[in-house]
Amino acid sequence: MKSVLSEIHYHSEEAAYAYVESRIWLDGPVCPHCGAAKEHVGRLNGKTTRVGLYKCYGCRQPFNVKIGTVFEKSHVPMRHWLQTMYLMSASKKGISTRQIQRTFKCSMKTAWFLTHRVREAMRDLHMDEAGPLGGANKVVESDETFVGGKAANRKGKIPPKAPVLSLVERDGRVRSFHVLNVTAQTLRPIITANVDRASYLMTDESPVYWSIGRQFAGHGAVNHSAEEYVRAYFWHTNTAENYFSIFKRGIYGCYFHVSEAHLHRYTAEFDFRYNNRIALGVDDVERTDRVIRGVVGKRLTYETTRGSQSGEPPF
Ligand SMILES: [Zn+2]
Repeated sequence: MKSVLSEIHYHSEEAAYAYVESRIWLDGPVCPHCGAAKEHVGRLNGKTTRVGLYKCYGCRQPFNVKIGTVFEKSHVPMRHWLQTMYLMSASKKGISTRQIQRTFKCSMKTAWFLTHRVREAMRDLHMDEAGPLGGANKVVESDETFVGGKAANRKGKIPPKAPVLSLVERDGRVRSFHVLNVTAQTLRPIITANVDRASYLMTDESPVYWSIGRQFAGHGAVNHSAEEYVRAYFWHTNTAENYFSIFKRGIYGCYFHVSEAHLHRYTAEFDFRYNNRIALGVDDVERTDRVIRGVVGKRLTYETTRGSQSGEPPF
């Protein structure tokens, strides 16, 4: 028996850097300052040199794999980043910031930064390249849920529930959006940008879908209150409802306090795990590797993590 967590890159800083470098620099190290590569860059191996440090012979500047990624300016050891990424990738319902704080014996502030930066690495920046959901002979379910506003979890004022729209391809991918409200005007541009017009759109009976539905090859409206429809083989939105059930168990089980300013990060986290699930052939290790590859181009500063719309402390 060999535990995944006994892998050397979860324990040795050198191995952790090598692991990350091999997944980000597929063709060897590249200088982030001037783009030099191959024989124009070299590893610094002095006794007092920090792990993972390189020097560029072109622009003469030092660099490491963290520059321009969510790791930038973080003092957290790389092996602990990898452990956090594994835990968050492997836990279907997510892992609370408090749990990370206890496991790593760090401050809540550090735990909060770690988890939010990992969520950022999970965020899909390539939706345009991946193309819209659905297509000919495919069903895409559109459904909404409302998050937050639970009195028991709050001191003082209860904030309004925040609507989340999820578009779920049957046997496929999901894309979720924190929306301002559930009106045709708000939903239409999101749905038309993310669902192929050749798809069959399955929604609830809400009038907001009446005109949006006409833009698709077909539109089915399910009456949530009529059980015979819900049970029907084709006319249902069970895929979206199942997705929301994981999302809500995660949100209410792990994250008592999801402020609206950060909701998009949680939807990114749950979408990521769903889109990289075992049924699609992605195991926990591969899912973690995909998070590591997702760190690039997502440098996150304190201010942007905290969310300027929210006057609340980060935890
Ligand atoms: Zn350079």
